Amino acid sequence: MTNQDTHLHSKFSYDGENSIEEMVKTAIKLGLKEIAFTEHVEKNTKWVDKFVKEIKRVQRKYPQVKIYSGIEAKVIDLNGNIDATNKVFKKVDLVLGSFHRIPKAKEKYLVHEEILSDKKRALHLWYRAMIELQKNKNVDIIAHPTAMLKKYEIRLPNSMKKAIVKNAKKYKKVFEFNKKYKVPDKEFLSMLRKKKVKITYGSDSHNIKNFLKSYKKKHNKLS
Ligand SMILES: [Zn+2]
Ligand SMILES: [Zn+2]
Repeated sequence: MTNQDTHLHSKFSYDGENSIEEMVKTAIKLGLKEIAFTEHVEKNTKWVDKFVKEIKRVQRKYPQVKIYSGIEAKVIDLNGNIDATNKVFKKVDLVLGSFHRIPKAKEKYLVHEEILSDKKRALHLWYRAMIELQKNKNVDIIAHPTAMLKKYEIRLPNSMKKAIVKNAKKYKKVFEFNKKYKVPDKEFLSMLRKKKVKITYGSDSHNIKNFLKSYKKKHNKLS
């Protein structure tokens, strides 16, 4: 399935550069059939109603592509909680949970130097939070699952991969193959597939230029 992209950002995200409508027009150009806007939120985000309304407006204008509303919220503690409120979960179609930092306590994160100086500790904290994130009932998709580890060249041991796959199955979590970070790796992906964990494809595009670019590279197509 490559005609689906469940990870797009528009101007509603602080780092998105194009409007929803501009991104939708590009999606149509690319032949996509299903897309989701998964904007970065925090607990104090105020624009979700406006965002959902805009998705509905654009959907009416472009019925040829199915557009979902979503959010991407980062893990904020070792209990797998994410940076969004219950109110917001109910308003959108999809909730992506992701690691943008590695938590060490409630809303406290490892700094760059701490990760570099003790990668083993970083891995264990990440793993603990990942296992708990999968139990979070509000989360539908685990976005760019191992991007944080890849960034710091931390290898995820097979035993941990196995436990994560088992958990994904148990808690019915969908895993994303993220085209931008190219994670999870082939081995992890095939483990997920073997256990029939659902996998979605996300380009994590923040503007039209990257959106187009991420569909040009043939090697990104996995199936
Ligand atoms: Zn992200
Ligand atoms: Zn993203």
